[in-house]
Amino acid sequence: MSMSKKKNTSKLSIATRAIHGKHLHAFKGPVATPIYQTSTYRFENSNDAIRYAQGDTSVMVYTRYHNPTVNEVEDRIALMEGGEAAALFSSGMAAITTAILAVCKQGDELVSTPGLYGGTYRFFRDSLPGFGINVKYVEPNSLDDLLYLITPKTKIVYLETPTNPTLSLVDIQTLVRVTRGVQTELRKNIIIMIDNTFASILNQNPFALGVDVIVESSTKYLGGHADLMGGVVIGRKKFVKDVKSLAKHLGGCADPFAAFLLDRSIKTFELRVNRQNENALALAKALSKHPKVNRVIYPGLSSHPQHKLAKKQMSGFGGMVTIEVKGGVKAAVKVCDNLKVAVNAMSLGGVETLVSIPVYSSHVNMSEDELAKHGVTPGMIRISVGVEGVQDLIEDFYQALKKA
Ligand SMILES: *Cc1c(COP(=O)(O)O)cnc(C)c1O
Repeated sequence: MSMSKKKNTSKLSIATRAIHGKHLHAFKGPVATPIYQTSTYRFENSNDAIRYAQGDTSVMVYTRYHNPTVNEVEDRIALMEGGEAAALFSSGMAAITTAILAVCKQGDELVSTPGLYGGTYRFFRDSLPGFGINVKYVEPNSLDDLLYLITPKTKIVYLETPTNPTLSLVDIQTLVRVTRGVQTELRKNIIIMIDNTFASILNQNPFALGVDVIVESSTKYLGGHADLMGGVVIGRKKFVKDVKSLAKHLGGCADPFAAFLLDRSIKTFELRVNRQNENALALAKALSKHPKVNRVIYPGLSSHPQHKLAKKQMSGFGGMVTIEVKGGVKAAVKVCDNLKVAVNAMSLGGVETLVSIPVYSSHVNMSEDELAKHGVTPGMIRISVGVEGVQDLIEDFYQALKKA
């Protein structure tokens, strides 16, 4: 039997023929964004390929470059956060590393505040020097040091506030003012970049305070259900375009399904975070009164050393509360192991309340000196407050503290 005469009855061929000539947007106006779970796109004919090669960005080619579901979420997040454009990534770390490498080249410098997410800290310490990028640190209580830390090689001033797990703040406006103050002709292109994950855009609006770029782990408050990984970079169009160009090479693009989950999540973002703010304040107040609790750290409490600054630069105080229990790490473990509503797990920002012990998680294997430098003590428990009934949460912590 000659091959040419054999009728092609493969199911795949039939299915492929059936969708020939059908366009991407088959239905108009779905309320929920469809998941375009595709890696590549059908050209109408080779003219499309030629148009793309000639720079027509309306031609869809490959999902590492663009995807309707991903792009929809990017547009929504840009609007939500008050930026011109956004780029979505497979994780917060992909967003952070790609944004930094889109700016800093060999020989450049970055100045950062020292209280950083562990992954970012290790990227600065272990990876950037290998690329010939030097990182310097400025203490949040002496931001005027930026005057000499910034040199003509400085491309990024990077900050994170509130910090993990001690919830101390960096004065965003002061940092912006000092940085702009040293900008001269030579140094005019310094980008001020903030990791806004802990506060989220509902509680802290960095663009209104003069920051250029927001990076954020959408795994946390934007995602909010502990079921997706993602990261986002938000800023001016030109900047985001550069970041996306590098993302094509580094490859940390978002998966369409993760983008769909994120799109679903951001619809309830404000509801969730408002409730988390309320719950966190109520829980922080209730725990402040407990005899087995040495200290409650929450920017919304007047006992927080930077409460005034919190009121100035934050519109809400967030869902993160850190407590220090009497009896050190042993007591902290007892509390965490006896909680029935709150879950003992890393990460933050979800609808379920999570607890973790910093000396066993974010600050594991650090010397006593390092811990002291970061203000971390063995009896600390970090609480990511969820949206449960707050009375249930308070009772849960009280019964667990009883057993410590
Ligand atoms: C979780 C987190 C990151 C990293 O995000 P991933 O999505 O885990 O890669 C960065 N910054 C902060 C403040 C975070 O909490």
